[in-house]
Amino acid sequence: MSVIAPKQNLLNFDPNGLQQFFADHGEKPFRSTQLLKWIYHRGISDFAAMTDFSKSLRTLLSSRAEIRAPEMVVEQNSNDGTRKWLLRLDDGNCIETVFIPESGRGTLCISSQVGCILNCSFCSTAKQGFNRNLTTSEIIGQLWIAAKLLGQFEANQQHRIITNVVFMGMGEPLLNYDQVLPALRLMLEDNAFGLSKRRVTLSTAGIIPALDKLREDCDVSLAISLHATTDELRNELVPVNKKYPIADLLAACKRYVDDTARKKITFEYVMLRGINDQAKHAKELVKLLQGIPAKINLIPFNPYPNSVYKTSTQADIDVFYHELYRAGMTTITRRTRGEDIDAACGQLAGKVLDRTQRRERIKKQLNDANGEKKAGNSN
Ligand code: SAH
Repeated sequence: MSVIAPKQNLLNFDPNGLQQFFADHGEKPFRSTQLLKWIYHRGISDFAAMTDFSKSLRTLLSSRAEIRAPEMVVEQNSNDGTRKWLLRLDDGNCIETVFIPESGRGTLCISSQVGCILNCSFCSTAKQGFNRNLTTSEIIGQLWIAAKLLGQFEANQQHRIITNVVFMGMGEPLLNYDQVLPALRLMLEDNAFGLSKRRVTLSTAGIIPALDKLREDCDVSLAISLHATTDELRNELVPVNKKYPIADLLAACKRYVDDTARKKITFEYVMLRGINDQAKHAKELVKLLQGIPAKINLIPFNPYPNSVYKTSTQADIDVFYHELYRAGMTTITRRTRGEDIDAACGQLAGKVLDRTQRRERIKKQLNDANGEKKAGNSN
């Protein structure tokens, strides 16, 4: 009985990988550039439409390969223009991807894992447990399908709709390094999405060895989920801090910016009422970040059913902000976006087939809270 090899999804390959794929099939390396342009400039997934390939190459590709992104199953549109898509993966898991339009730019917030293992105490993704890493095709596929849905492939290159990408959806990208790196390369590659390295931001809780590796492998912007100024509090909020404490993390941040002309690192700081949002915390933050080219992003906590934390008061956020401002720190407070569709940081849920069964235990609590009005604000 002959076994038919499964088709290779070409969205899994970065430019080098694609060259290798063609070499393995006895084709010239420049075929890779042609194919990248078909996929990422024109949004074409049907080999039959790739007219600069010979008929025999098109037939070969159709039999051995495919170009397949996750499937969009639900679309939600916010009053403020934010759009959220639920995407279904081959194994039945679902992830969410959010597009946030602003004047002069459009930011796509993507996921890197199904669920998350880090268990940050304030994040709703954590409550779903962890199922698996996303593949490169599922990561870059979020960008590809969003570009398609937004009509970016019809618009010409001068009119980019998605100008920025942030890894601020579900998952910890640096715990899925091998699949995330090719996706980053496709985002930056001129023959693929061609985004500026300043406009691709990887957000991480701070997995130090992977951070050092990234420094060598790919030049993208970095956002660090700091959220606390002492190890004692950060251990509680971001438990991975027990493994990679603040001082070590900040040393890794310095290394990241040191050897290149890299710009500032963004430090994300979720504002939790009465926990980390007082003037003394702001002063500690200023001290901590001395000597690091830093930009601070204050994120008002986005509540979700049964969350134990509360959003800081506007007055506390203002005091905190001014403390940083007085010290000359570049600070922005993330604007609330898409609050009517739960598209906020830490609110992206998707549908995680939870291998840890943690979801079952938590489902009851969530059901109890279901009657409550969902309070959501977002970035
Ligand atoms: N694992 C990555 C990506 C997480 S999501 C990381 O840790 O950076 C992106 C940002 O949203 C992180 O800074 C995360 O801490 C923050 N976040 C998570 N839940 C939140 C919530 N409920 N309200 C506000 N921000 C939240």
